This record gives sequence, C-alpha cells and structure tokens, in this order.
Amino acid sequence: LLQLYGPLNFLGSVYSGIRTALVDLEHMLGLTEEAVEVADPATPLPIATRLADAAPAHVQFRDVHFGYRPEREILHGVSFDALPGHKVAIVGSTGAGKSTISRLLFRFYDTWSGAVLVDGHDVRCYRQADLRATIGVVPQDTVLFNDSIGYNIAYGRLGATPAQVEEAARLAQIHDFIMTLPEGYETQVGERGLKLSGGEKQRVAIARTILKDPRVLVLDEATSALDTHTEKEIQAALKTVSARRTTLVIAHRLSTIVDADEILVMGQGLVVERGTHAQLLAAQGQYAAMWAAQATGEA
Ligand code: ATP
Repeated sequence: LLQLYGPLNFLGSVYSGIRTALVDLEHMLGLTEEAVEVADPATPLPIATRLADAAPAHVQFRDVHFGYRPEREILHGVSFDALPGHKVAIVGSTGAGKSTISRLLFRFYDTWSGAVLVDGHDVRCYRQADLRATIGVVPQDTVLFNDSIGYNIAYGRLGATPAQVEEAARLAQIHDFIMTLPEGYETQVGERGLKLSGGEKQRVAIARTILKDPRVLVLDEATSALDTHTEKEIQAALKTVSARRTTLVIAHRLSTIVDADEILVMGQGLVVERGTHAQLLAAQGQYAAMWAAQATGEA
C-alpha cells in the first residue's frame, strides 16, 4: 500500500494542478459548465470592448436576486451603480456574496430577478464573448501557461507586437524583473519552467489586462498579504491599469479602497452599508469597526 501511495499522491497533485488551471480559464475564457446554461440572444447588441475604442463602461445592478440552487437564494436584492470610470469596492465577511456579484457581471449565470446592466442594457442583450471581452479580471491567483513569460503576457491580446508586450510589462512593473531572467521574455515559466512568486504572477496578470484594454476591470484582491514592498509595487501597477476604467474591487484590505467612489459592505447577500470611506467611518457602523480592527491588526 505504501508503494502505491507515492504515485497516487503524485496523481492527486497533477489533478489539483489541472483544476486550478481550469479555474483560471473560467475567468479568462468563460469556459464553465454553467456557461452553457446561459444563451446568446438571437440578435445581439454590439458593444465596444476596448477602452481605446470607447469610454469606460457603465455598470449597474438593479435589485438582483440570485442563487446557485433553487432552494437557496444567495443575493437578496443587490443594487448599485458604477458610473463610467468610477471605482466601486465590495467588502464583507466570507460567504457574503462578493464573488457572486463578479460572476453575474461576467454572466456566468443569469439572475433570478432584477438585472445586471452594462452601458444601460441588460447583459443578456450582448453576445457572451463580447461581454467577456469588455471586462478584464486580475484574479487572486493567476495560473501561468507552460510557455514563455512573453507569451503569458501576450495572451491578453492575441496578435500583440513584442513592443506592445514590453510596454504592458513596463506599466505592470514587471519588465525590469523579466530583464534579469536568463532568456528575458523567452524564459519558460509555469509548472515546467521557472516558478514565479505570487506578486510576480499578479503582475503578469496586470500586464495581460493592460494589453486586453477592457472597459471594465474586476480586481479580486488576494486574501494573503504580500510583503510591504511587493504590495506597494502591485498597488502602483493596479493604479495604472484601473485609471479611467470602471473598476469593481473585491477587497480584503481596506487600505486599498480608501479612494473608492463607493464602498458596498455586504452581509449575507445584502448591501448592509454603503458610502465613501469618510461617510462610512462617520456612520460608525460595521465598516468603521472593520477599519478599526484592521488598523489595530496592521499596527
Ligand atoms: P469569500 O470572501 O470567502 O470569497 P464571497 O463573499 O466572495 O466569499 P461568494 O463566493 O459570493 O462569497 O459565495 C456566496 C455564497 O454562495 C456562499 O454561501 C457560497 O457557499 C455559495 N456559493 C458560491 N459558489 C457556489 C456554487 N458554485 N454553488 C453553490 N453555492 C455556491
């Protein structure tokens, strides 16, 4: 039995690697089982996907009710308005429904009632591929392809020139790091190549997103804190990518959302408090308590 354990253990880790890769693909390509449940309209509305071609998008949730299974409603009427170019942050305890909001924006699922709108139209009016091209995501943990680091960045926009890839890498603050690698942009990364740190992978994801140039950005902040220096670099890179873009941040560290136009505090599928950082502190409610707790924790 012990002899068997080694290989089985190995297979287990291969399997979990494949699963992780699929989760990331779910974000990037929308290849989910659920995706087949939602259908494209017969006559889809056109939508400009890139910021280079249009203004930032307008994102609205109107009294959205939704659950993954019929017997359990997860969102009980969520409404908010992310004006073009604004930054809306979503905070709240684990399981409150924060990620569910971003999945509905991507239309991985359809709402039970109420609506998700982009540029004033229900997301059901658009072709799914167009909708997902309009939204960029910087996930918590990026899975890299077993290919060069250059390819991993260029993936953000197929057909990008080496100069465009380098420009994106500079803006994402990863170009200097790439230049220290033995083969520069040709260096192999991923499971079979160089392993990148969490912060480096996140910067690859940012560079990809800069190339994609979406009109809406979803930032899924990592729960685990990076070291202070890396965190500063990431925050600077994120600022570059979110500038002028309508941004939805799923936040874990309140210090990163002090400048948000609106902060939604989620509790069990409802927005329980909303406002700017200053308004929420003045209200002395749940957000103010979270802020006080984090300030003490970080001191
Ligand atoms: P966290 O901060 O832990 O990521 P969250 O606020 O993002 O939490 P969601 O991921 O939106 O929470 O989950 C909200 C609720 O929906 C949870 O109770 C969760 O168990 C449930 N849920 C999430 N995904 C699924 C799914 N695919 N099928 C069934 N239930 C799900």
